Amino acid sequence: MRGDNILLEVRDLRKYFDVTDGVLGRVKLRAVSGISFALLRGEVLGLVGESGSGKSTAGRTLLHLYPPSGGEVIFDGERIDTAASIARLRRRCAMVFQDPYSSLNPRMTVADIIAEPLDIHKLYSSAAERREKVLSLLAEVGLSSEHASRYAHEFSGGQRQRIGIARAISGGPELIVADEPVSALDVSVQADIINMFERLRDSLGLTYIFIAHDLLVVRHISDRIAVMYLGKIVELAATEELFSKPLHPYTKILLSAVPIPDPKEAAKAVRITPTGEIPSPLNIPGGCPFHTRCPYVRDVCRNTTPVYREFGRGHFAACHRVEEIN
Ligand code: SF4
Repeated sequence: MRGDNILLEVRDLRKYFDVTDGVLGRVKLRAVSGISFALLRGEVLGLVGESGSGKSTAGRTLLHLYPPSGGEVIFDGERIDTAASIARLRRRCAMVFQDPYSSLNPRMTVADIIAEPLDIHKLYSSAAERREKVLSLLAEVGLSSEHASRYAHEFSGGQRQRIGIARAISGGPELIVADEPVSALDVSVQADIINMFERLRDSLGLTYIFIAHDLLVVRHISDRIAVMYLGKIVELAATEELFSKPLHPYTKILLSAVPIPDPKEAAKAVRITPTGEIPSPLNIPGGCPFHTRCPYVRDVCRNTTPVYREFGRGHFAACHRVEEIN
């Protein structure tokens, strides 16, 4: 990876929550258990996994919306570990949330919602300039000036997500973490929103971390994909490499559940199914965390945690048996 072009580096990032469980008592919920990756400027990294994999917590923790329990976040060469560096990170990053119904303040006009980052960071010198910026942001996301004085509840889900995106880009961020930004929307609207993300990446030079459980959505927009399971990245590769040559059993399972449009190809496809449910993050299995569900499990998997290793240029996986099963 070209060092001068790295926008974000995450090293062994961890996030634990102290929770009280009826059976286990006071325990640590290991939502993110040590993830590492680097992101180039202009790149889109897809972060996928089932619910409970820690992908949303990872997104929030790397933006310091949750204080990390360990590890490092380095943004544009600066280690984020002081109040001042966190403030600088927040100025240069933004988040788009999953639920456009609850993430927009119902008592604020659309103009005020979109202008919030402008207000916080004082990015205008007059009321006229603020209004001009709001109108240009509305146009950027395909809404009109008439929408500025209305309230979020007057809009459809897709339009609300456009408002959420306008708010996210209004402070001129370089990195956007989009947390399941289309999963609450009708399928018919999802493609419009994804296309808008792509267009904005090109026109504004944005970098994205795109979190989703839908692999097809992630495939469409991502340059690389990281697959998470119980708080760890189990595989990371360039998108087409991951789809054509998945190495980790969990990735193979996720991919075998993706619908194949061509009926002939679909008939040839081998479907691999996991055994059982995803374990609770309160009680992560020892050894390989996937061993309780893996169809390729052996004794070594139950006792020894696999090392996250590189198996080809930029293709990483954490599995003892990669060479045997591929
Ligand atoms: Fe499956 Fe073992 Fe690989 Fe874990 S280490 S994914 S249990 S084969």
